[in-house]
Amino acid sequence: MHFSDLGLAEELVRAVTEHGYTTPTPIQAQAIPTVLDGRDLMAGAQTGTGKTAGFVLPILQRLSDPTRKGPANGRAPVRALILTPTRELAAQVEESVRTYGRHTKLNSLVVFGGVSINPQISRLKGRVDILVATPGRLLDLAQQKLVDLSQVEILVLDEADRMLDMGFIRDIRKIIALLPKQRQNLLFSATFSDEIKLLADGLLSKPVLIEVARRNATADLIAQKVYEVNRDEKRQVLSHLIKTERWTQVLVFTRTKHGANRLAEQLLKDGIASMAIHGNKSQTARTKALAEFKKGDLRVLVATDIAARGIDISELPHVVNYELPNVPEDYVHRIGRTGRAGSNGEAISLVCVDELDFLRNIERLTKRSLPRAKVDGFEPDPNARAQPIQLRSQQNRGAPARGAHAGKGRPGGKASQPASTRPGGSKPFGGKPGSARPGTRSGSAHRSGGRHR
Ligand code: AMP
Repeated sequence: MHFSDLGLAEELVRAVTEHGYTTPTPIQAQAIPTVLDGRDLMAGAQTGTGKTAGFVLPILQRLSDPTRKGPANGRAPVRALILTPTRELAAQVEESVRTYGRHTKLNSLVVFGGVSINPQISRLKGRVDILVATPGRLLDLAQQKLVDLSQVEILVLDEADRMLDMGFIRDIRKIIALLPKQRQNLLFSATFSDEIKLLADGLLSKPVLIEVARRNATADLIAQKVYEVNRDEKRQVLSHLIKTERWTQVLVFTRTKHGANRLAEQLLKDGIASMAIHGNKSQTARTKALAEFKKGDLRVLVATDIAARGIDISELPHVVNYELPNVPEDYVHRIGRTGRAGSNGEAISLVCVDELDFLRNIERLTKRSLPRAKVDGFEPDPNARAQPIQLRSQQNRGAPARGAHAGKGRPGGKASQPASTRPGGSKPFGGKPGSARPGTRSGSAHRSGGRHR
């Protein structure tokens, strides 16, 4: 199958071909004709599937349609609005718009918080056909009447689950209220919680459903490994693996910003070039770290979940969970950074006895048991007992920690408890994979309230 078989115009096929793509990915093969048809879309696809081109290409085509009428007079209005959860993702999506739209006459702009608003205001005085934005900054601009959203023809919510996680639902609803009722809506989400379904019900009209990755499933191209390690040997194990396995480009996840900083410093002391990125770092520092990592000058990038959202590095070979996430869906998102669009990747988790319940929750969500292994010379103490994990996810996402919030989820939703406070949470190593107790589906707990402009 070729891009031209999907009904795309010559100038778009030319742009993707020049960019080096020959074959559409499955999400592209399904989404492109649907969007060209003007249908609403609900797509289950995580980063790495090629979803961005799946909506950007047909949007470019629909907006370039010469039979469509432009404004009779005055400033051309925004015609397509793409909302993303993070600045990094917004920047990457807008870059894709420019790449794929290079042979069209359409203009695009990206706006997000954390940088000066003034250049964005002046750019908005010109023609912007496609606006890519994070919700907080867009709402600021809209409330000051600096952007006109009344003529938007196509709305995209990219990584909608993440936007809800980050507490953007109210901003999103306010933005939607500013759009014309008649429009095309595309919703992309890696996971489908009840909250996402509720949002989709109110937003989409007779949507076409496309699912390329199994629901809450981890991509098949990713080899997943769990190394059982001692709590206080994780850093040594990580340095050892990086050096002996000769990993060159490693994205490492920690649960907290503080943990990310500390680990990056320790790795540097071990002679491994590394930097941390998280929400407390300036946009300039984040962009610089990411650029060096992409170029290959930086061997290790240590990130928190939020900072890593939307990082698009093709063929990232290694993702390491230095600490398992207490929210199992975050595991799916984290390892989605590797094994992208057809290339193989390896996701390694360093798991100590305190995190075994997190591991079981992940295995229950992804419906697969992860193979356990030990690193020679770093065998874990078989008699180690679990200690409580301080969940400080407020630091990361500005929201209550799931476990720490047990019982306060949405009405009817069950919240999970931290590993250490649950019965059985202090078991030593040796529990069988997949032997988790049923009943505590962490995915339903409350996690909104955070904001990240
Ligand atoms: P996305 O899921 O949109 O973040 O895309 C993931 C990665 O796949 C990006 O690095 C894209 O450049 C790449 N990609 C997208 N479409 C294709 C394609 N048809 N062939 C090869 N690579 C692609």
